[in-house]
Amino acid sequence: MNSIHDEDKVKDLLKEKKIPVFRYAQIENAIYKNFVTEFLEIQTIPKELREWLKENFFYYSLVVDHIVTSDNWQTTKILFKTTDWHFIESVIMRHLTWRNTLCVSCQAWCPMWCSFCATWKLGLKRNLEFYEIVEQIYYACEILNKEGTILRNVVYMWMGEPFLNYENVKKSIDLICAQKKLNFANRRVTVSTCWIIPWIEKFWDDFPQTSLAISLHASNDEIRTKIMPINKTYDLEKLMKSLDLYVNKTNKRVFYEYIMINWVNDNIVLARELWKLLEWKLAHVNFIPYNSWEWTWWSYSATPRFIIEKFQKVLLTYWIPSTIRATMWDDIDAACWQLAIKK
Ligand code: SF4
Repeated sequence: MNSIHDEDKVKDLLKEKKIPVFRYAQIENAIYKNFVTEFLEIQTIPKELREWLKENFFYYSLVVDHIVTSDNWQTTKILFKTTDWHFIESVIMRHLTWRNTLCVSCQAWCPMWCSFCATWKLGLKRNLEFYEIVEQIYYACEILNKEGTILRNVVYMWMGEPFLNYENVKKSIDLICAQKKLNFANRRVTVSTCWIIPWIEKFWDDFPQTSLAISLHASNDEIRTKIMPINKTYDLEKLMKSLDLYVNKTNKRVFYEYIMINWVNDNIVLARELWKLLEWKLAHVNFIPYNSWEWTWWSYSATPRFIIEKFQKVLLTYWIPSTIRATMWDDIDAACWQLAIKK
């Protein structure tokens, strides 16, 4: 069986069967524009072709294991099971302004060892196939469509490091942004990364319009290396140099994610360091309140809100734009990755 999202494969098999190419356009239209998920219900193609599709292709390889929605209806977390029994998650965040956002996973777990994150705990299981990423996005579209709204933004930032699964991430972005498919605006797709520097040129060549978010989380090498081992390989100097090149090339603002962990990286002195690091850069900082997870054997805790605000104020004083991310999911035990870990 093959994924219906694999356009080349579908076309090859249609060709082998001597079915005219225009049939693909009909299938594509039914699937991506009319959201018909049952092949037998595609009314625009002959019955034999529908049956042949059903025998040879699948629509979803992922199975929904669990869905949980917060009391305020803002967040829905979906736990999927892959065909080889790995659990991955994606999260829909609904905004009153209709800027509905989906965070997707690109790997089954993660090898990056960030100390504040639970995902690496079981190590990397495997890279997700491009269609497994697309299925997460497609499933969220289906949920939101039923609610009479749409998905506006996709962020590659849940489980996994996108640059370690570059080709599948690329293929999935190309697919969702294709006009005849989900037709997402490229700038509404964000790739969030620890920043594997060798990929920089490829990224700006492949995705000049796609937004880039960097997991920064510290303003100096000492703290960053402690909480993100990748910093030993690509320290802040190398990181910032490569990002300067990126900005020169694309003229796009870089989003910096900074998770606020009490007594670890939230000292006001570090706010000034952060300002120095980002001074004169095309940057936006996103402060993320830390979400504790019960398997932490070291005692990380969330920075109190008033300290985050003080920290933010330092950056604002120097005209560096920033936002504090709302915690939308406290009541559903759905801080990053918790459902999958429990499973
Ligand atoms: S924060 Fe991201 S890159 Fe780091 S371990 Fe977690 S999932 Fe991996």
